Amino acid sequence: MSSDTSVENGVSATTASSPATETMQALELDELIRQMISHLGEDPDRDGLLRTPERVAKSMRWLTRGYNQSVREAIGEAVFEEKHESMVLVRDIEVYSLCEHHMLPFFGKAHIAYYPNGRIVGLSKLPRVVDVFARRLQIQERMTDQIADALMEVLQPMGVGVVVEAYHLCMMMRGVEKQNSKTVTSALRGIFRDDAKTRDEFLRLAHGGRGLD
Ligand SMILES: [Zn+2]
Repeated sequence: MSSDTSVENGVSATTASSPATETMQALELDELIRQMISHLGEDPDRDGLLRTPERVAKSMRWLTRGYNQSVREAIGEAVFEEKHESMVLVRDIEVYSLCEHHMLPFFGKAHIAYYPNGRIVGLSKLPRVVDVFARRLQIQERMTDQIADALMEVLQPMGVGVVVEAYHLCMMMRGVEKQNSKTVTSALRGIFRDDAKTRDEFLRLAHGGRGLD
């Protein structure tokens, strides 16, 4: 796999821009949000909205900070040689992302499992891996695949299973009678895809809890 592909898929580090460029971009984003407020028919100069462009810009940058993060950085040194020969599962990892079609939040839980092949990762690192991909403009299906593929690449395990269950505000706030629909996506790699017993055990454990209900 070329290094370009690695940067794109979020596994390796991205190039950071200079502080001066960042300040320029921040001011431009402020101005764009000011214009958006105005286009929506509001007065961006009224008291309550004066600092809103700055706040929204800052918040959007934070909510999309995954573009400046990589899985290798998120995991750091927390990969250990260890002869552990059964499934490792972390359930109920909080997920907050933005759908790329409406730039509205989708949020829920991720359940991640892997079957080690001589290497294990610090459990607290898995939520950070989720965030690398969740904190971008996303679709849930792609995010689920990216988490699975990144863990396959970095840990080189026997297999990875990822289930994400999420509510989408673009459906809940805009649609009718879609307020309670939850979207469930899964990505199965290696023995999680090829071995029925492992797959069933994972899906049973992943769906076994109360989830978002
Ligand atoms: Zn949407």
